[in-house]
Amino acid sequence: MKKTITIIGGSIAGLTAALVLASAKNDELDFDINIIDSGKPDLGAVAIYNSPLFPRGILGKDIIEQTLNQINSLLKVNYIKGQIEQISGSKGAFVSKGQDLEFKSDYIILATGASSFNIDGLGDVVKPHNLMNKPNKIRLEYSGRQEVKPGIYVAGTASGVTSMVTTAMGSASEAACAILSDIKGEIVVAHDTPTSRK
Ligand SMILES: Cc1cc2nc3c(=O)[nH]c(=O)nc-3n(C[C@H](O)[C@H](O)[C@H](O)COP(=O)(O)OP(=O)(O)OC[C@H]3O[C@@H](n4cnc5c(N)ncnc54)[C@H](O)[C@@H]3O)c2cc1C
Repeated sequence: MKKTITIIGGSIAGLTAALVLASAKNDELDFDINIIDSGKPDLGAVAIYNSPLFPRGILGKDIIEQTLNQINSLLKVNYIKGQIEQISGSKGAFVSKGQDLEFKSDYIILATGASSFNIDGLGDVVKPHNLMNKPNKIRLEYSGRQEVKPGIYVAGTASGVTSMVTTAMGSASEAACAILSDIKGEIVVAHDTPTSRK
């Protein structure tokens, strides 16, 4: 069974969600993943000293490049520069559109950060971000397992978590596992062991 996933926002949250999904590919389940990014990540301003296992002082652009390589070693994904402006359709048949861009998908992950949300079609989901110490930061309202609408999940600072790389990664992993669980109809976790890929 192949599922198509559109991930809007290709910084640490979008890439973490893609990595979890890519790692879950197996004989029964496969993915087509398109990641669309408009090139304005908060991660671009960062040098990281406070996340375990990241090399000391690693820059945001290097985190993005290395994580994308890690994803592609498991499952080839499309990373596209561009901006999504509109979402239509419903679970199983979404259409995400931008200028000269159109992506059909079964699921969508919104990993669009906390600076703004400029995508039409989802109604009144933008709320103030309560955990950031800068003005005009936003989050998206969701219910259950970070579900903004059926089949559309939010990840990273857009979900309202504290603005840290590790919290963004945690919420993105949660969104990806929620999608895996929805596909399978039972709780799914993405686990490996030292011998699972040999
Ligand atoms: C100056 C500064 C220093 C920081 N230092 C640290 C630190 O030391 N340690 C730490 O843990 N955290 C730090 N952070 C916080 C960290 O950068 C963020 O928590 C993290 O980047 C959030 O990741 P994200 O993927 O949720 O959002 P972002 O990194 O903001 O990425 C969101 C992405 O979505 C894209 N996007 C938005 N809308 C659309 C659209 N419609 N279509 C396509 N793409 C879209 C944007 O262009 C962007 O690339 C710092 C942040 C800043 C600003």
